[in-house]
Amino acid sequence: MKAVVYKGPFEVAVEEVEDPKIQDPTDVIVRITSTAICGSDLHMYEGRTDAEPGITFGHENMGIVEEVGDGVHVVKKGDRVVMPFNVACGFCDNCRKGKSAFCLTVNVDGFAGGAYGYVGMGPYAGGQAEYLRVPFADYNCVPLPEGTEHEKDFALLADIFPTGYHSTELAGVRPGDTVAVYGAGPVGIMAAYSAQLKGASRVFVVDNVANRLDIVKDMGAEPINFDDGDPVEQIHDAVQDYGVDRGIDAVGYQATAADGEEQPAVVLNQLVGTVKATGGLGIIGLYVPSDPGAPDEHSAKGELLFKVGKFFEKGQTMGTGQADAKQYAHTLRDLIIAGRAKPGFIVSKELPLEDAPDAYERFDKREEGYSKVLLQPGR
Ligand code: NAD
Ligand code: ZN
Repeated sequence: MKAVVYKGPFEVAVEEVEDPKIQDPTDVIVRITSTAICGSDLHMYEGRTDAEPGITFGHENMGIVEEVGDGVHVVKKGDRVVMPFNVACGFCDNCRKGKSAFCLTVNVDGFAGGAYGYVGMGPYAGGQAEYLRVPFADYNCVPLPEGTEHEKDFALLADIFPTGYHSTELAGVRPGDTVAVYGAGPVGIMAAYSAQLKGASRVFVVDNVANRLDIVKDMGAEPINFDDGDPVEQIHDAVQDYGVDRGIDAVGYQATAADGEEQPAVVLNQLVGTVKATGGLGIIGLYVPSDPGAPDEHSAKGELLFKVGKFFEKGQTMGTGQADAKQYAHTLRDLIIAGRAKPGFIVSKELPLEDAPDAYERFDKREEGYSKVLLQPGR
């Protein structure tokens, strides 16, 4: 089959690789209809991680079940399904509580769960390919209505819609709250959209990429350009208060400052300043234990200069970690089916798999029209 293969920093190629096979009776093989490129793939693409050349990326996958293992009882051949990005068992203590990002059966490195096509998250190949092996398929496949309707909306159930929603849960967003989201990438936009779904009164989104701030405006949220001055002050001025109720980090450790330099803790510290005392912080931007390409010795070891004193003084709470996409995927799917959520507005391109090298380059450069790309094998 054809698959997107990582060749080295800033290079992927579409190549012929071996077809996936049923390895355990609880597996299925899915024929991919849509698979998205994610900002998380860029950590590997840009060479910030230990990802080895030769791996296939792709943790945002949906398609049609092609082959079913003997131990699969719910999912059937021909079903249309989307796979939350976490590979999880469904029966361990953490999965039973909905914490599928921390599955104890898959258990990578003693604490983290698995994911498709991601360095350090287990041996699972990614779905930027014609076919994907899905372990523990009765749990990991979320069933969808048959046909081709809502493809763009449903594809986002694999990661960024539930991840954005998860950030609002971590931050504790409630109806009427004021919310600030740092990062207008696809994840930040889905966080802002989820806050709107929950009835937030005002939603600010901070970035400095003009075409992304335009999307923020179009969705009825309030864009804040950090090149125009300190975003903390801009938001305080806008709310005429001691800050917003809730804040979300959808940037992560590759944050840049207004001078263009990488400053890995800048958003964490700005969030503490942006959110009022006793408010909630949801951190879904990625922070990793070590970062080979980090600008200084401390951030290379994953030790960031987070000013904990101010955070303590303000009595804030903070939630972090990989999102348990499965926990929200069913409910968010039902909102899409009912016409109450249309997250697909963020998808700007649906391209054949062969276009992956060009699409990666343009998404990485945050080019206009590449806010979120779906690769569609066979298109
Ligand atoms: P992205 O790279 O497309 O978007 C990041 C955005 O942050 C960019 O638009 C960039 O201009 C902006 N930015 C950079 N520095 C900033 C600053 N100082 N202030 C405000 N904005 C700034 O990535 P994405 O796909 O939107 O993902 C965002 C983050 O979420 C990544 O770190 C990704 O790995 C992470 N992620 C986490 C989970 C999870 O489960 N926790 C899931 C998916 C993605
Ligand atoms: Zn993703």
